[in-house]
Amino acid sequence: LTRLYAPLTALAGARVEVMSAMVSFERVFEILDLEPLIAQKPDARRLPDGPVAVEFDGVSFGYPSADKVSLASLEEVATLDARGGTQVLHEVSFRAEPGQMIALVGSSGAGKSTIAQLLPRLYDADAGAVRLGGIDVRDLTADSIRDTLGMVTQDGHLFHESVRANLLLARPGADEAEIWEALRRSRLDGLVASLPDGLDTVVGERGYRLSGGERQRLTIARLLLARQRVVILDEATAHLDSTSEAAVQEALGEALAGRTAVVIAHRLSTVQAADLILVVEDGRIVERGTHPELLAAGGRYEELYRTQFAPGGAARTTGA
Ligand code: ADP
Ligand code: MG
Repeated sequence: LTRLYAPLTALAGARVEVMSAMVSFERVFEILDLEPLIAQKPDARRLPDGPVAVEFDGVSFGYPSADKVSLASLEEVATLDARGGTQVLHEVSFRAEPGQMIALVGSSGAGKSTIAQLLPRLYDADAGAVRLGGIDVRDLTADSIRDTLGMVTQDGHLFHESVRANLLLARPGADEAEIWEALRRSRLDGLVASLPDGLDTVVGERGYRLSGGERQRLTIARLLLARQRVVILDEATAHLDSTSEAAVQEALGEALAGRTAVVIAHRLSTVQAADLILVVEDGRIVERGTHPELLAAGGRYEELYRTQFAPGGAARTTGA
């Protein structure tokens, strides 16, 4: 019986290998939170070198209902089913000049993350256009989008690989010193140094379990290492405790220098530094301006400022 089963077991083993190779291939995309859900056009082009403006031009969008989605996971289909068809964004327009930082603020469910997800084409707009460097993202190659956009989200995606491999995906040419520098700046050097296999420790669901904050710091280290010209931060430090957050914020601030940034902020300090603040409500931009302008206007931003950013009044207010 053993003999009979042996070849079968060998075959099954081979199959597992093929499967895991496929999984890692997918994870290569996931690592930058950019899953290629949408096929690129046959005549898609690369974004030329140089500074990149980010532009939303009358963008309306609703998550596709389940029957329109071919590549979604079962889990996704379940979410889509429940919400299919509803319009989430309504004629959203804004422009971030090269090197500028735009902050999106607004209550939970307003549509901020949805705006962020249209940039790497996790979804396409139903109406209007999303442009990078003046080119509609639908006309760009997937590679070009990945090389241009860096993204840190609330739950940093890692793949089941070593810390080193996770970081090198951001910039394959990075040397050991650069890797440690990125880890140091995201306050992860101590932890990695203490791991049994150091940089070669495998992390991810089946490897060494990092906490939410540690995962987030690893994706931040990846961003520091990469040289993408446009950066999207979607509550990128939400899981960090206040001690490491201040340090990581500083590193992120440095990383943003010279890059165009769209920052979904949950901290007042970030918002105050933005060149332009957009207040998003029910999928619409209801106010826009700088921190002092919006405070003076005494509208929705001023209300958010009091409630969301400065609970208890003076607690989070800082001298701009
Ligand atoms: P925010 O980031 O401002 O909290 P989101 O962009 O995540 O808001 O969500 C905006 C709206 O879109 C919400 O009503 C939310 O439930 C819905 N939504 C978010 N993601 C999906 C999804 N994958 N499928 C269907 N609906 C979604
Ligand atoms: Mg969000």
